[in-house]
Amino acid sequence: MSYAYLFKYIIIGDSGVGKSCLLFQFTDNRFQPVHDITIGVEYGVRTINVDNTPIKLRIWDTAGQELFRSIIRSYYRGAACALLVYDITRRETFNHLASWLEDARQQANSNMIIMLIGNKSDLAKKRQVSTEEGERFAKENGLIFMEVSAKSGEKVEEAFVKSARSIYKKIEDGDF
Ligand code: GDP
Ligand code: MG
Repeated sequence: MSYAYLFKYIIIGDSGVGKSCLLFQFTDNRFQPVHDITIGVEYGVRTINVDNTPIKLRIWDTAGQELFRSIIRSYYRGAACALLVYDITRRETFNHLASWLEDARQQANSNMIIMLIGNKSDLAKKRQVSTEEGERFAKENGLIFMEVSAKSGEKVEEAFVKSARSIYKKIEDGDF
């Protein structure tokens, strides 16, 4: 399938927030509940349509190396978008966002967009971080925001399309 643009994405955030599941849900439309599916798969690809323009996304997973920040840093090279993921049922993963953001801002080129993703929206009863808190953090730091469920697939597609559209617009406006 031909495409007009190829965007590199990276998925960052604490271990266990659902980064690999998110990638799998987006590229394969399935939920793979087994932890550690990262092994052997470093990226997934899918072409989506944004305003009638085919855009290929190559999405890099951090491959279980979340603790090795020095390795993760090399992932940032050439990335158009970072998806910064936390788990709405584990507050600590939300508390760590600032440090992930600091890394991202340091390592990435300045026009990389960052999308904040609150994952596991299907686990409403276990929620520890409110939607408003996510929205506020995103607003304060100039991030796009969405809550999704890598399990049910809710808003997963929308999140990728929204971020890709934002990059596409930047290119059209000549500031990418
Ligand atoms: P990673 O370490 O960030 O790559 O996280 P994984 O994708 O391996 O997921 C960690 C755990 O969370 C696994 O047990 C998944 O089954 C579970 N998980 C991931 N996303 C969701 C979700 O949206 N809802 C629920 N209920 N569980 C999820
Ligand atoms: Mg993983």
